Amino acid sequence: ARQALPSSRSSTNALTSQSLQSPLKARANALWPLRKTLPVWSHASEIRQGMRDKDIILLVGETGSGKSTQVPQMLANEPWCKSQPVTLKSSGKTVNVGGCIAITEPRRVAAITLARRVAEEMGTPLGSSSPASKVGYSVRFDNSTSPSTKIKFLTEGMLLQEILRDPWFTQYSAVIVDEVHERGVNVDLILGFVRNIAAGRLEGRGGIPLKVAVMSATAEMERLDSFFEDGFLPGSNGQGPGQTKPAADNLENASDVESEWSGISSSDDDNDPQDVTCKLGDKLQKSETVVQEESKDVSTFSNSYEAATTKINQLDNYSSVSGKQSKKVTQMKGEQSENLPHTNEMQPRRSLAHVTTCFIEGRQYPVTINYTPEPVHNFVDAALRTIFKIHYQEPMPGDILVFLTGQETVESLESLANEYALGMSREVPKMLILSLFAALPQAAQQRVFQPAPSRTRKVILATNIAETSVTVSGVRFVIDCGKAKIKQFRSRIGLDSLLVKPISRSAAIQRKGRAGREAPGQCYRLYTEQSYLDLQPRHTPEILRCDLSHAILTLKARGVDDIINFPFLDHPPREALEKALMQLYQLGALADTGKISEIGQQMAKLPLTVSLGRVLIAAAEPELDCVSEVIDIISCLSVENVFLNLTSEEKKEEAQLARRELFRREGDHLTLLMTVQAYAAEKTDRKAWAERHFVSHRAMQAVMDVRKQLRAQCQQNKALNGHQARQVGPELANSLLKCFLKGFATNTARLMPDGSYKTIMGNQTVAVHPSSGLFGKKVEAIMYNEFVFTTKSYARGVSAVQMDWIGEALGV
Ligand code: ADP
Repeated sequence: ARQALPSSRSSTNALTSQSLQSPLKARANALWPLRKTLPVWSHASEIRQGMRDKDIILLVGETGSGKSTQVPQMLANEPWCKSQPVTLKSSGKTVNVGGCIAITEPRRVAAITLARRVAEEMGTPLGSSSPASKVGYSVRFDNSTSPSTKIKFLTEGMLLQEILRDPWFTQYSAVIVDEVHERGVNVDLILGFVRNIAAGRLEGRGGIPLKVAVMSATAEMERLDSFFEDGFLPGSNGQGPGQTKPAADNLENASDVESEWSGISSSDDDNDPQDVTCKLGDKLQKSETVVQEESKDVSTFSNSYEAATTKINQLDNYSSVSGKQSKKVTQMKGEQSENLPHTNEMQPRRSLAHVTTCFIEGRQYPVTINYTPEPVHNFVDAALRTIFKIHYQEPMPGDILVFLTGQETVESLESLANEYALGMSREVPKMLILSLFAALPQAAQQRVFQPAPSRTRKVILATNIAETSVTVSGVRFVIDCGKAKIKQFRSRIGLDSLLVKPISRSAAIQRKGRAGREAPGQCYRLYTEQSYLDLQPRHTPEILRCDLSHAILTLKARGVDDIINFPFLDHPPREALEKALMQLYQLGALADTGKISEIGQQMAKLPLTVSLGRVLIAAAEPELDCVSEVIDIISCLSVENVFLNLTSEEKKEEAQLARRELFRREGDHLTLLMTVQAYAAEKTDRKAWAERHFVSHRAMQAVMDVRKQLRAQCQQNKALNGHQARQVGPELANSLLKCFLKGFATNTARLMPDGSYKTIMGNQTVAVHPSSGLFGKKVEAIMYNEFVFTTKSYARGVSAVQMDWIGEALGV
C-alpha cells in the first residue's frame, strides 16, 4: 500500500501534470470531430506534400475554412519542421536553426484568440503559462511564449521587430503570412522580407530552407506567384533581407558577418559556380546603384527640406536658433543580433518552380440580402432599429453581428441599445450587447467568443475586425453600415488621417458571409443596392495611400538602404517615399548620408509611431529626464478616447466641473498626464473614480496595459529608473512639451493677428477641436497630436507651446 502512494518528488510531479493535462486533452479530443469537418482538412495531404516539394505555398480559402487554426497544426510535425544544430563557420559555435512556425496576423485580437484556440485544439497550455506549452503568441506589449513553443502567432509588427534581432529567422522553419488580402503596410514589408529570406536561405547560403505559406480569403494569387518566383531568379534580391548584404548595420559585429557571408558566397557549396559569380557581380553592381540611388534620394529630400526650413525662417517674429538639434541621446540598449548560421550540410537543390497554389472551396449557407430603399443618413440610428426589428421578428437562436466604423460609433450604439433593451417586456428573450474593437481590453474582447446564456440573443457591435480576422460562432444576422474608418495620407497637410469611407465590394461580401457560416442567414445592408454596385471592387493597399515614415524606418533599420529596389508587391509612389524620408530626417532618424542614425535605430526598436518613438527617446535625454511622465501621456494617446464623449449640453457642463481638478492650462497632454496619475493613485475603486470624472474606465484599463508594457521595455533598456509620480510644476511641464515637440515639431500652428491659427508647415488654417481644453483660448502657438476633418480642419490633442521651442525642435 505504501508503494502505491506517490512517494518520490518526480512521481508527484508526474501525477500533478497528468491530472492537470487530462482536462486539456479531453477538451482537445472533443474538438477534433468538429475540426476535421473544416474544408481545409480535405486538402491536408496536398498542403503537406506541396510544402515538402516546394518552398512557398499560396492558400486561398474563404474565411472560416480553417486556414489560420489548422494549417500550422498540419505542418508542425513535418520532417522539415524541426530544430537542427548547425555550426557557425566563423566562431565554430553551434546554434539551433528552425523548429518553430511563425504565423502573422494583422491584428492583435486575432493573434491572441487564434493562439488560444489552437492551444485548446492541441490540448496544450497557452504561452508563458507553462514551460511545456506548444502554442504561444507575441503581440505589441504582450509576449506569451515558452521555450518549447512550436506554433507562434504574431502580429505583423512583431515579426518585423524580430528581424532586428534575427535577420534570417533562424528560429523558424516556416513563416505563415495570414490575411494577406488586408494589405496593410506591414504585410507588404513582410512579403518582401520573406521573399528575400526564403530565397537567401534556400540558395544554400544558410543551408536550411525557410518554408513560406501565404494565405488569403480572396484570390489575387497570380501576382503573388510571380512575385515569389521572381525572388529566386539570379540577380534578384535573394541575398538577404536587405538588397546587398545581410542587415550588417544591425548585427553585433559587422566584420564577422562579412566573413560569414563571403564564406557563404564562395564555391564551397554545391551550387553552380557560374550562378555564384553572377550573384557576386550583381551584388557589386547593386551596391553602386544603392549609393547612386540613395544620394539621389537624399539630394531630392534635402532640397525639399531646405525649402521647408526656409519657409519657417521667413516667418516674422521668429527667433533664429543656430545649430542642429542635439544628437546626444541616452542609450537605450536593444537586443543583440545573431549571425546567420552556416552549414556545409546543404539541402539538395530544388526544381525550378518554387511556388505552389492550393484553392480551398468555401462552406457557405445562403444569405438573403436586404437593402434600404433610400440612402440612410444616420447609420447608428438605422442599426438600432434593425437590431430590434430582428430581435422581435426572428426566431432564436441566431446572434446579430453589426459592422460599424470605429470605437466611437460602437460605444454610442452600445449605450443606445442597452437603454432600449431595458424597456423590453419580460416575454421577449433577453439581449446581451457586446462590443468588439481593437482598443478594447483583453478580457472584454474574450466575452464576445463565449456562448450567450439561455434565452438570450447576443448582439455584437464590431469594427471591421470581425470581417475576416476573427470568427464569432452563432451569428445568423449581419447588419452592415457600409462604411469603415480607413487611414489615408493627406498630402495637403502632410499627415495621415482616419477617414470614414465606403467599404469595398469585396469587404461587403465578406461582411455578408459572416451570416451564413453555420446556417442560412440574413444580411441587412444599411445602404441602397445602387450604392453597393457603386462600391469599388477592392480597397487600395495601405502602402499606396499612407504615411510611409514608419515603413521606411523599418526597412532602413533592417539594412535595406536601397528602398527603391526593395521588392514591394505594389510600389509606393515616389513622392510618398520622399515625404517620409523628409520626416525621418527632420526627426533625426536618418543621418545626412541617408543612412539610419543612432536615434533612428532606437526608434525602430520601439513599438510606437515614429513621432511618439522620437518623443520617448527625447524624454531619456538627461536635460529633459521625464520618461515616466511621457509614458503616461503616450499610453493615453495610444487608445482612442479617454474622456467620455458626451452629447447633451447639460452633461458636458457637469463633466467639465467634475474634471476641473484634472485640467491643466498648458493643454491636453498635461491634462492626460494628470488623469493617468490620478487614476493610478486611486487604490480603492477605479471604476467609481472613472464614472465620477466622466472618464472611460474601459479606455483607462487599456491605458494601464500599454503603460505597464512601455515601462517594462524602458526599464529593460535602462531608460527608466522606477520613478514615483512627481509633482508636475512649470519646469517639468515645459520639459514634457519640449519632448513632444521633438516628435511633433511639424504639427504646430501659430496664432495670427485675426485670432486664427495657421500651420507652421504649409500655412493652412486650423481650428482647435471643441474636445480640447484649449478650445476658445488664444496662445502664441499650438502643438497638436492629430488632424481631424469634419466640416473644417481641426487640431486634436492640443497644447500651448512657445515659438522658440518650435525653432529649437526643428533645428533652425
Ligand atoms: P480561416 O482562417 O480560414 O478564416 P479559422 O481557422 O480562423 O478559419 O477558423 C476555422 C473555424 O474554427 C471557425 O469557423 C470556427 O468554427 C473555429 N474557431 C476559430 N477560432 C475560434 C475560437 N476562438 N473559438 C471557437 N471557435 C473557433
